[in-house]
Amino acid sequence: MNTRDNYPSAVKLSKETIKFLSNYEVAPTPINFSVIYHYLSKKDEKMNKFIDEYISWNGSLDTIFIESLFLEFFSSSENIEKSFLTPFENTLSSTIEKLEIQAINGEQIASNFKKADKVLAKSNQVSSLKPLVSFINSTLTDSKLQHNNLTSELAETYKQVNQLKTQLKASREEAMKDALTGLYNRRGCDEKLKDLDLENVHSSISIDIDHFKKFNDDFGHSIGDKVIQRVASTIQSHISPTDFAVRFGGEEFVVVLADKNKNEAKNIAEKIRVSITNLKLKQKSSNTYLPPISISAGISEYQKDNNWKTVFEIADSALYQAKSAGRNCCVIADSSIT
Ligand code: GH3
Ligand code: MG
Ligand code: MG
Repeated sequence: MNTRDNYPSAVKLSKETIKFLSNYEVAPTPINFSVIYHYLSKKDEKMNKFIDEYISWNGSLDTIFIESLFLEFFSSSENIEKSFLTPFENTLSSTIEKLEIQAINGEQIASNFKKADKVLAKSNQVSSLKPLVSFINSTLTDSKLQHNNLTSELAETYKQVNQLKTQLKASREEAMKDALTGLYNRRGCDEKLKDLDLENVHSSISIDIDHFKKFNDDFGHSIGDKVIQRVASTIQSHISPTDFAVRFGGEEFVVVLADKNKNEAKNIAEKIRVSITNLKLKQKSSNTYLPPISISAGISEYQKDNNWKTVFEIADSALYQAKSAGRNCCVIADSSIT
């Protein structure tokens, strides 16, 4: 047993977890707590490496990232499906198949006995055998009935296993989405990236809302959340079904544009930027318009043999150029600011 698993160590670790979360201004929700407790107990090298890299990269931690780790390292609907449901479904389907073959054989035997019964009916010499044949016939009929019941029960179970698989698939889809905006989260992003044909050119846009801290300070976190939702839906409305948008962090988004080069991506980023500046957001309680929102964006291109982490980092550095250039603009990585 791990020496850290005893009671005093667990209490100590819990305190360290709370302290760690509060240092990074992350709420001690059950999910955040579990992940960080696990991190501090150093039980999973791979997960710890992700967290260390994230902190050294961003200098902070956030709930979306922690939730994606939770889904990856703690919840395991794929495992349930892979190690339980699919083998169970396979066994069921082969059992049903065998039962069906057996039912056909049973029917054949029953029909042979009926034929034998008819032959016996015509013969007076073997009348003593008739009760035996009738008995076998009725036994076969009973067994056929039981057999049919069993087959339909198994078919019902099979249907339920299938429904469960569909539900698991739906909940896996949901786990790939961010709850506030409905965009993909980081985990979803990783999954969606796997669908892209890496022989082609793709692009990514990193987007960050301008001066959002001030916006939150002036109008409160819940209006801030509504703004994040509107920005997300504006981004989503400008991309095609083969592209996808990700809420990458608090008010940071990534758009992956399939089969589009950086110039095409820039056009889309510009459309998003202009639409966001044109949003008219009204504060219900005071019936007044909120100040205009703007975003800055950085664009980079994926080419064969790149890796996505680098592509996102390059888009991020272009985003910071856009911020330095005064915000509310889009910059293609390694190009002049327009
Ligand atoms: P900049 O133009 O340089 O981007 O300035 P900024 O104030 O937007 O700076 P930054 O991007 O670093 O600020 C992020 C702020 O976003 C910090 C936090 O107050 C806010 N934020 C992060 N996540 C959420 C969230 O889920 N909801 C709300 N309402 N605010 C969030
Ligand atoms: Mg930011
Ligand atoms: Mg910002």
